[in-house]
Amino acid sequence: MVHNKIHLASPHMSDEGYEMQYIREAFDTNWIAPLGNNVNEFENELAAMVNSKSAAALTSGTAAIHLALKATGVADGDIVLCSSLTFSASANPIIYQNAIPVFIDSDIETWNLSPFALEKAIKKYIRMGKKPKAVLIVHLYGLTADMDKVIEICQRYNITLIEDAAESLGALYKGKHTGTLGNYGIFSFNGNKIITTSGGGMLVSNYEENIEKAKFWATQSRDQARHYQHSELGFNYRMSNIVAGIGRGQLKVLDQRIKRKREIFEFYRREIGYFDGVEMMPVNDWNDPNYWLSCITLNGKVRPLDVIIALEKENIESRPVWKPMHMQPFFAGYDYIGEGVDEKIFDDGVCLPSDTKMSDSDLERIVGVIKRLWERR
Ligand SMILES: *Cc1c(COP(=O)(O)O)cnc(C)c1O
Repeated sequence: MVHNKIHLASPHMSDEGYEMQYIREAFDTNWIAPLGNNVNEFENELAAMVNSKSAAALTSGTAAIHLALKATGVADGDIVLCSSLTFSASANPIIYQNAIPVFIDSDIETWNLSPFALEKAIKKYIRMGKKPKAVLIVHLYGLTADMDKVIEICQRYNITLIEDAAESLGALYKGKHTGTLGNYGIFSFNGNKIITTSGGGMLVSNYEENIEKAKFWATQSRDQARHYQHSELGFNYRMSNIVAGIGRGQLKVLDQRIKRKREIFEFYRREIGYFDGVEMMPVNDWNDPNYWLSCITLNGKVRPLDVIIALEKENIESRPVWKPMHMQPFFAGYDYIGEGVDEKIFDDGVCLPSDTKMSDSDLERIVGVIKRLWERR
């Protein structure tokens, strides 16, 4: 018997049909453009939810990172310190700006950027007369980084802090939303994220003027004139009014999604967390994750690939943890400050199916497959 496919994380529209109501509104008013009420309201609603002064809705999280770097003034030859254990979209925009990424190791207690390695990197580059221009920190899988320490370091050295919260919308660090703890924050609404607009992103900041500037760059940097006039390089990065409608609907169910993601994580913890060699991803007490993906590390006889292949045979999708950027062929020439903690997480890590559309019996099916791997040893 062929079972239904279980996804790692797939789009999950609201049962109430909120998204279609907003799309309908856009059609009825013919605002089928990167402008309109849904765009404005999506920005307002998201900014209010995370408690940020302003927001710019963009075509992707990657575009949001790009404009955050640009708003920071990152340009040719500048050093940007970036979490190494992440998706390539965190680092690519550094290259778009002709800047130089320096990759920073993770802390085993958070899986996120190590404050110790961060300060080491800052000192190293200051000694070389190249003070880093920005720190780009990632909140991986909806876990939050050790922000008090990172913020203290960035303030002490006066370096701009950009949070890549693409995976952590709704996650809280000591009661505050990830993406609002540093100077700029970005979110993604790509298809596999905790809420999705099919594709899209958001830049948030309390620097309202800089967010206005980002919107200007995102609409081809059109100067105020009757004719088309440009005194700066422009980009076509603005979110469409249809897409923003999906986002408004999805925002209404974010809490439900986080609740279900947490149940999924707790289920795995209960069912397989005590197995020989299994460790759940680290949830610290100052941390209210959104549990975007439930991840584990395996350091016993059963290896990550055993789990991934066994699940695949049953039509169940799982995958390795992100491969660190300093191990990627494209970024191999750049500096890395650390001791390979992130390499170890990559070697041992598995992202388990975390789709909120899964039923309880789907979850039983998954742990059934995993349990058999331990029974056989
Ligand atoms: C998804 C993701 C991005 C990119 O977001 P897009 O909207 O796909 O451009 C950036 N950083 C991280 C960590 C991500 O997971």
